Order: sequence, then C-alpha cells, then structure tokens
Amino acid sequence: MFNYQGKNVVVVGGTSGINLGIAKAFAKAGANVAVASRSQEKVTAAVSQLQALNPEGKMIGVAFDVRDVDGLSAGFGVIADKYHHIDVLVSGAAGNFPATAAKLTENGFKSVMDIDLLGSFQVLKQAYPLMSRPGCIVQISAPQSYIAMPMQAHVSAAKAGVDMLTKSLALEWGVEGIRVNSLVPGPIADTEGFNRLAPSEALQQSVAKSVPLQRNGQCQDIANAALFLASPLASYITGTILPVDGGWSLGGASMAMSELGKLAQKS
Ligand code: NAP
Repeated sequence: MFNYQGKNVVVVGGTSGINLGIAKAFAKAGANVAVASRSQEKVTAAVSQLQALNPEGKMIGVAFDVRDVDGLSAGFGVIADKYHHIDVLVSGAAGNFPATAAKLTENGFKSVMDIDLLGSFQVLKQAYPLMSRPGCIVQISAPQSYIAMPMQAHVSAAKAGVDMLTKSLALEWGVEGIRVNSLVPGPIADTEGFNRLAPSEALQQSVAKSVPLQRNGQCQDIANAALFLASPLASYITGTILPVDGGWSLGGASMAMSELGKLAQKS
C-alpha cells in the first residue's frame, strides 16, 4: 500500500519488539533502513532480517546507547556517511520496569528519564541536521504519558516529556518542513514491554478484555500507523499524539492497570 523505495529510514531502538516491527514494515515497503540499539548482537540479527525482506535495500546497523552522546554522535556519523540524509526517523528506545514510587530509587527513576526522555532529545538533535526537508519524525510514546498507572510514575514522567518534546519540536521544526508526531501503542502482544507489565497469559487476557476492540494489539498495528504517519497522506499532520490502542486509553487502561497493580502489590 505504501512505497518507500529509495527513502532512508532510521529506527533507534529498532532491534526488537514494536520498533523492529516498524523497521521491517519500512523494509518491506522498499526503504533503506538503519537500526540502532545497545547490543551489537541484536543489531546484527535485525539487519539480516531487514536485508532478507528487501535485498535491494541498503540496510545499516549501529550499536550505541542513547545515554552516551559520543557513541550516539559516532553512530549518526556512520548513518550520515552511508545515507547522506534521513527521510524518516523513528525514535523508540526505552526502558521500563514496574515499581511503586515509594520503592523506586533515584537511580531507577533517573535511568528511565535518561533513556526515554533525555535519550530521545539527543537522538532528535543528532538527526536534525540530517533530516530531509520535508522529513518526518515519529516518536514512540506510551499511554502512561497521559494515563496515571500504578508502579509507572517514572515512565509516566518520561513519556509525558517525550510527548511535549514532540509538540515543541513540531512547532520549531515545522517551518523547515520537518513533521514530528508521537505514536502511542496500547498493549502489544509478544513484546518485552507488555510481558514485563502483564507477565502471564491470564493477565494478558484480562487486559485484552479491557480494550474496547477486545484484543491486544500486534506489532503490525503500530507499524501500519508509522507507515501512514511518515507518508504524503499525513503531510498536514504534525505535533499529534496518536493512540493506536483499540480504544484502550478511553478508560480500560487505567482500570486494567489498577488490577495489575493490586496483584503485583500482593505478590
Ligand atoms: P523492546 O522490545 O524492549 O524494545 C526496546 C528497544 O530499545 C530495543 O531495541 C532495545 O535494544 C533498545 N534500547 C533500550 N535501551 C536502550 C538504550 N539505552 N540505548 C539504545 N537502545 C536502547 O520494547 P517494546 O515493548 O517493543 O517497546 C518499544 C517501544 O514501544 C518503547 O518506546 C515502549 O515504551 C513503547 N511501548 C510499548 C508497549 C508494549 O505493549 N510493548 C506499549 C506502549 C508503548 P537493546 O537492548 O539492544 O539496547
């Protein structure tokens, strides 16, 4: 449905889960795709999957931690050498673990802020001079950004910041033709993030029942939205925080997470 042939797409945090699903969708649509994350092993595995999906495409993998500005800058240097410009940037590196605010340490809170919020800022800053005009940035946020959930104060604080970064940079960079939007996945089955918050089949089924569309999402649901947001069909959309969650954020999210929170408190 979408043709990204010849376009250069960079997916930070693109070596597993939702973000790898997005990278694969762009590769299938004909794009050259660069993925980055900390583990060289995961980067290598992701690049070979992407190359298999689009043998004509120029696939790149770089290993860096978004908290390390020198590493990040070197990684974007490699991408600049190979691609010269970036048409689409997806910024989705994140960390999460459940912890009540009372038990959360300063280091735990800081580590999520450093990866999700400061890391996203650094990624966008590194990409900015390389972005084509027009170009598109998609940040991967989370419902915790606007829905309070037990044991997620750190993630809520970080992702709310990510979404305000989206709006602020949409405002500043829109005049140059760079669109910046956030995608907000609901509960996505078979992902590290969801398995950590709902670590059993029974819990995942109960979350599915709290989604108005009565199912947990698939990585492909988020990838489809990313393909749309980066396409000319979305050329008048910027500064938007777009939930792709089967309606979960309409109310089910806070109910389901309160139940999960009570169970986790007891265990
Ligand atoms: P995931 O599989 O754990 O993916 C996270 C990615 O980020 C991995 O590629 C990881 O690779 C990379 N990463 C983590 N820390 C990094 C760092 N410091 N520097 C560079 N890369 C780093 O998680 P996921 O569950 O699919 O989530 C992906 C995104 O969707 C996240 O932004 C998350 O907040 C959001 N989200 C997920 C859900 C869900 O249901 N899963 C719901 C809402 C929002 P390395 O380990 O190699 O670094």
